[in-house]
Amino acid sequence: MRLADRLHEWLHPRMPDCVLCGQSIGRNASGPLPVRDAFFRRILREGLCGSCLGWIPWILTIACPICGRPDRCGDCLRRPNRPFVRSRGAVRYDDAMKELLALYKYRGLEKLEPILAAMLSAAVEPMLSEMRFDAVTAVPIAERRLEERGFDQAERIACAVAERYRIPFRPLLKRTRHTGKQSFKGRRDRIEDMKGTFAAIEPPPALGQASRALPFPQSGPRILLIDDIYTTGSTMAECSAALRQAYPNGEIHGAVWARS
Ligand SMILES: [Zn+2]
Ligand SMILES: [Zn+2]
Repeated sequence: MRLADRLHEWLHPRMPDCVLCGQSIGRNASGPLPVRDAFFRRILREGLCGSCLGWIPWILTIACPICGRPDRCGDCLRRPNRPFVRSRGAVRYDDAMKELLALYKYRGLEKLEPILAAMLSAAVEPMLSEMRFDAVTAVPIAERRLEERGFDQAERIACAVAERYRIPFRPLLKRTRHTGKQSFKGRRDRIEDMKGTFAAIEPPPALGQASRALPFPQSGPRILLIDDIYTTGSTMAECSAALRQAYPNGEIHGAVWARS
């Protein structure tokens, strides 16, 4: 590189290109973001260009206080006794978000990981302003999926959020059996299929040395359970039921990246 070019770059550092569309981000990727945390805001602004940010279908108004759906919700009316207190989603699972998740999950576009975590924080932040959690945990991936993919997407984004908000992450759940791919199944089959799929890991895995000062309360822990997508709520319900069985009086609150 010529000295003049190097000097120019030093004086005018180029913003990175948009992770999704490859366009230059420029300095004016403004517009409102429903995320308050400065670190996550920066990740979004420096990772995505203004037009890609504009595609994100944030859930800004909630119609169902239980599952956080932006529309009137027949599901929760039919099954009011959910084992979780509430679940909140950051975005609607529309076609653009399907593509985004597929890029990360199946194409392994790792650069999207902090962006997904930053997006998820839009669902987590309002809860944190009301209460504190004893632990963050994630819906565990099926072993076969883990072998195919090499990583557990829900756990990765849960860890990133836990770290940022300084809540200990604990893997509290395990799968007890294999279930087929849920995306090919109908609503009723999904609900039936998920029954008894999860169990709590007992005793809860110990944390590293540094976190010894944070004991996990055996009674009445407040747990933030994270998953990537909420569809029928059967996974969230099964995981919450397993946690409540292991931890009496436990309060489970869900946060998902997308609500379908
Ligand atoms: Zn873009
Ligand atoms: Zn609902």
